[in-house]
Amino acid sequence: MGVQEQQLINEAFELNWIAPVGPHLQKFEQAVIKYTGAGGAVALTSGTAGIHLALRASGIKEGDIVFCSSFTFVASVNPILYMAAVPVLIDSEPEGWNMSPEALRTAFRKYEKKGMLPKAVLVVNLYGQSADLKKLKAICDHYEVPIIEDAAESLGATHEGMSSGTIGKYGVFSFNGNKIITTSNGGMVVSDDASSLEKIRYWSTQAKDPADYYQHSEVGYNYRLSNVLAAIGCAQMSVLDQRIEARRNVFRRYYEALHEIKGISFTKEIHGCSTRWLTTLKMNLSCFRDTPETIVKRFEQYNIETRRLWKPMHAQPLYTGCDYVKHADNQSICDELFETGICLPSSSNLSVEDQNKIIKHLKNFLAESKV
Ligand SMILES: *Cc1c(COP(=O)(O)O)cnc(C)c1O
Repeated sequence: MGVQEQQLINEAFELNWIAPVGPHLQKFEQAVIKYTGAGGAVALTSGTAGIHLALRASGIKEGDIVFCSSFTFVASVNPILYMAAVPVLIDSEPEGWNMSPEALRTAFRKYEKKGMLPKAVLVVNLYGQSADLKKLKAICDHYEVPIIEDAAESLGATHEGMSSGTIGKYGVFSFNGNKIITTSNGGMVVSDDASSLEKIRYWSTQAKDPADYYQHSEVGYNYRLSNVLAAIGCAQMSVLDQRIEARRNVFRRYYEALHEIKGISFTKEIHGCSTRWLTTLKMNLSCFRDTPETIVKRFEQYNIETRRLWKPMHAQPLYTGCDYVKHADNQSICDELFETGICLPSSSNLSVEDQNKIIKHLKNFLAESKV
């Protein structure tokens, strides 16, 4: 947080707009619209709430099928269960690690045969990078199925010149504390469909009908963002480009120091600009005795936090019953990524000194365990 965040919080207090209504909400939405080129936006309490309402706006009903990336954080998929719909989990592609167009095509063919086309495809843009949405969209357009982009981790990224989150019918951003910019907790849905956004705004504020008393004809939620948090969001939007630059610099320093080590490879930047929200890499396990599991433990001894990549949803106890469609018959990319990948510390405010320490340790671990 910077000085401007505090100033805008003070402004919200002075104006006494402390509820989930007030001028900073519009300003925050306008800032995201201007930055991404989206047609419209609704600020919400979380990205999870945004995915939930985008699914509802897509007309998902109980028992409907929704295709969703398997390689993701659980918050992408849980809203499908909130709608009592059925997730079908789709594998990743090997370069950028987001939804595999090959797997998506296979899934469409399979479910077309069953006469059960999905009502929506939830594409996740992970680790600061957009999925190959041009290809994915061509497939979805063919079947006339809308895309919801989970862009929680990719605000500020582009794909073929378009902003991540604006390529599908709906895009969802998150402003949770761990994201590239934050309002402590918060989210936003963007879309070019003004009437759907109006519905989303209505459901997010308890679905209060336009009457001068409390009348309700649909079930709603308490999902609207607080105006105080929106004030923080306005200030954060003005530093988004700096944060992206900082994260890309973190990536560049890791890459320059480590890319020549045999047996490791960094996520490729494909068809656009990644924010490098997290620097992520893959190990060739035949080159080292260490694995991501032991590397994370070794870093822990120096009080440095690293993490494995996402454990795929089809491997989660909660989702083991779901159908899972692989990239190729004999190849599950996201299972490989879970077995071989790690995230390195990537904060926008990571000092060069700290980063050099991380680099030194990682070089040592890999050299010591080389086979
Ligand atoms: C953070 C995140 C979410 C959820 O956003 P919240 O604002 O925390 O609800 C959804 N999907 C992905 C991929 C995320 O990283």
